[in-house]
Amino acid sequence: MKICIFNGGRLGVVENGYVLDVTGVMHKLPVAKYPYPKFDAFISSLPELLPAITEACGKASRLSLSDVRLECPVQNPGKVIAAPVNYQAHLEEAIADTATFARAHVRVIQETGLFLKANSSLVGPSDKVCIVDPERRTDHELELVAVIGKRAKNVSKAEALDYVAGYSVGLDMTIRGPEERSLRKSPDTYTVLGPWLVTADEIPDPQVLDMMLSVNGDVRQEVNTKDMIMKVAELIEFSSRFYTLEPGDLLYTGTPEGVGPVTPGDVIECNVECIGTLRVEIE
Ligand code: MN
Repeated sequence: MKICIFNGGRLGVVENGYVLDVTGVMHKLPVAKYPYPKFDAFISSLPELLPAITEACGKASRLSLSDVRLECPVQNPGKVIAAPVNYQAHLEEAIADTATFARAHVRVIQETGLFLKANSSLVGPSDKVCIVDPERRTDHELELVAVIGKRAKNVSKAEALDYVAGYSVGLDMTIRGPEERSLRKSPDTYTVLGPWLVTADEIPDPQVLDMMLSVNGDVRQEVNTKDMIMKVAELIEFSSRFYTLEPGDLLYTGTPEGVGPVTPGDVIECNVECIGTLRVEIE
């Protein structure tokens, strides 16, 4: 099932170019009292809500996908985890380009580990990416994103995929330079997620997906997720040794080769097989 958030927090199911409005199901969410849980309440409740969502589709109003405003499909993730340099060919392009990539950041993922992006940087496809400093190079990074479905701590890679609620397409927008990743990759709007969440049952193996990114129609990044150095299951195993993973936590799995700068006015399109196309404008 393809689940979207649209038009100001409405809940939709995407089918054949239409959005079925199933917002009524949201009243089944548990009412939270302060202090609120530090995870996404909708993703946490998704397994229990799925039968009601399926039933609601039968009598839902339908809107054309082209007429709706698609928003970030996970509205309140507790954290945004990201993998640096997780494709060999991207590591090699970073090693080769000493003018762009600070030496301290060009190491294999097993040495670098993971990093966090600020939740405040997260937007959906209908928002725009706003360049914060036009004097500096800001790059696109196409990434497959796994959305955690249930609490995970010290899980093994053999069971890791059981903890995934679904997958989405991500852009890890990045200012190049010497600062910490958590600063350069966390300005407002620098984390894009969409166009929707595809539930994990539709993607039994996340390591066989073709991915492609274009800027103004020119293809810049093209890869298959089989080329990841640390696979999705290994990333979950690794990250859950350090963090307790919670429902709705986002795991950006790293970008392939072909990263490059964007400027205001550009349009980025990202396609991941079995998910769909995320389109976002640069401002
Ligand atoms: Mn990245």
